[in-house]
Amino acid sequence: MARKPRESKQRPARLDLDKIVKRARKFSRPYRVDRGKKFRLSDIDPRDTGGLGSEAKPRAKEALANGIHALARLQDMLYAQDRWGVLLIFQAMDAAGKDGAIKHVMSGVNPQGCQVASFKSPSAEELDHDFLWRCSKRLPERGRIGIFNRSYYEDVLVVKVHPEFLKGAKLPPELIGKDIWENRYRDIRSFERYLASNGVIVRKFFLHVSQKEQKRRFLERIENPDKNWKFSASDAKERSFWKDYMKAYEEMIRETATEESPWYVVPADNKWFTRVVVAAAVIDALDSLGLHYPEVGPDKLRELAGVKKALLAE
Ligand code: ATP
Ligand code: MG
Repeated sequence: MARKPRESKQRPARLDLDKIVKRARKFSRPYRVDRGKKFRLSDIDPRDTGGLGSEAKPRAKEALANGIHALARLQDMLYAQDRWGVLLIFQAMDAAGKDGAIKHVMSGVNPQGCQVASFKSPSAEELDHDFLWRCSKRLPERGRIGIFNRSYYEDVLVVKVHPEFLKGAKLPPELIGKDIWENRYRDIRSFERYLASNGVIVRKFFLHVSQKEQKRRFLERIENPDKNWKFSASDAKERSFWKDYMKAYEEMIRETATEESPWYVVPADNKWFTRVVVAAAVIDALDSLGLHYPEVGPDKLRELAGVKKALLAE
């Protein structure tokens, strides 16, 4: 009699996971921008908590804990399957909570399956290359989740707000024309399409904090000695360019949000809410890959049965 095939395609505790995935999709969709053309930043309120009041905080924390659990299981399948890569990009003004969101949302995943890269002011070596170079070196391997804490998007954000940085970038002067930003948006779209066709899916997060809340968080960083290290005077200087940054963010999202590589514009004045939305979007992204554990063929099953027999006979 033929052996009954092992149901390795079955996802662990399928029902439970499916319920969480469904909720995650519903929760994160309102913040997903996958057709940029009509996007307006003013449509998103940084204080938004999806209609949940602060009394919902404990429930949100519980949902986050369940979400993190689901995420860990999906990541385990991603790793075992070893086919897809997942790139999560985080962009935000200072003190919007990038670090905290990354820390909380990824807290349950196996560190072996996760790679974080932070991109600061470019080094001399980095400036000696095209603007995508330093980021392409840090792309996630198959089976891994890669996180970019800032990214090549800085080259259409901080560099656009301070075009004097272009001079330091050593570009041939004739390439610094008025269409430089259009060209960069186009190059980013092509790069992300290239990644998608190679099995690396990209999800981008803009943590949208208000200027008022940023001020509150800066003051907290100054007043609390344990948080002093997080504050630098240059952060406060960038704050004075707020309007220019918001304009650059809006244009960047309009130009680079696609069905394949959507932006999530996440309200960021309430950290608990930001984290739930980010976790939900990551769960949705992983689920979209239809992950399952690799199927074990008849040869492998025979081998396992043989080894089991030998072990039991010891
Ligand atoms: P933290 O929360 O610790 O402040 P951070 O991501 O803001 O984290 P910083 O050490 O402040 O880290 O450095 C990042 C700085 O580098 C940002 O001000 C960012 O705009 C700047 N930066 C990143 N990429 C570029 C670039 N390509 N050109 C110029 N500046 C850049
Ligand atoms: Mg900073």
